[in-house]
Amino acid sequence: MVLPIELNKRQELILQIVKDNGPITGESIADRLNLTRATLRPDLAILTMAGYLDARPRVGYFYTGKTGSQLLTDKIKKLQVKDYQSIPVVTDENVSVYDAICTMFLEDVGTLFVVNREAILVGVLSRKDLLRASLGKQELTSIPVHIIMTRMPNITVCRKEDLMLDVAVKLIEKQIDAVPVVKDTNKGLEVVGRLTKTNMTKVLVDLGHDEMF
Ligand code: ADP
Repeated sequence: MVLPIELNKRQELILQIVKDNGPITGESIADRLNLTRATLRPDLAILTMAGYLDARPRVGYFYTGKTGSQLLTDKIKKLQVKDYQSIPVVTDENVSVYDAICTMFLEDVGTLFVVNREAILVGVLSRKDLLRASLGKQELTSIPVHIIMTRMPNITVCRKEDLMLDVAVKLIEKQIDAVPVVKDTNKGLEVVGRLTKTNMTKVLVDLGHDEMF
C-alpha cells in the first residue's frame, strides 16, 4: 500500500481536479484526464484509502483538506499495542537473582516480568536491578527476586487496545524500557505481552518503509 506523502503525477493531478471541482464523479475526473474510469480506479482507491479523498455514493469524490503530515498523524494515532507487542518473558517471584540473570541471557530480553504462583503480575526486573543486586556481597543464588524487583502497584502497564503513542509517552515519562501488556482478571493483572522501546523503533521503521498502511 502507498503512504500518503508519496503521490505520483497522475494522483497529484486527480487531487487538483477534485480540489477545484469536488464533489465530482469518477467518470468526470476520467473525462478531464482523457482516461477511462477503469484506468483511474486504482489511483482513486489509493487516494481514498490514504485519506486525501472521500467518496460519497451518488455524489462523487471530494477533497478532505488534510495534508500529508495530518494524515500521517491520523494513522499513527490509530496504531495499537496489539499490532506491535512481543511475547512476554516472565519469571516466578521466588526464583533467585542468579536464575533471573540466566533467564535474561537465555531469553535475550532486557526486562523480566515477575509473576506469582497464580501467574499474576507482581513486579518487574530490569538489567540494572539485577546488576545492583550483584554489587552486594550476598550469594545471588539465595536472594529471591521479589526482594529486589520493582513491585505492584508501582508497575506501569498497558493493554492491547492502548495506542502506541500513549505507551511511548509512558516509556519516556517513567524512563523505563518496557511495559507488560496485561489483561484484567478477578485475581489481578495477567501478563499477555511485552511492549518495549524496540517495538517503538519498529513503528518508525514501518513508517519509513511505507509498510503501515
Ligand atoms: P534499566 O534499569 O536496565 O535501565 P529500565 O529503565 O527499564 O531498565 O528500568 C529502570 C527502573 O524502573 C528499574 O528499577 C525497573 O525495575 C523499573 N521498571 C522497569 N519497567 C517498569 C515498569 N513497566 N513499571 C515500573 N517500573 C519499571
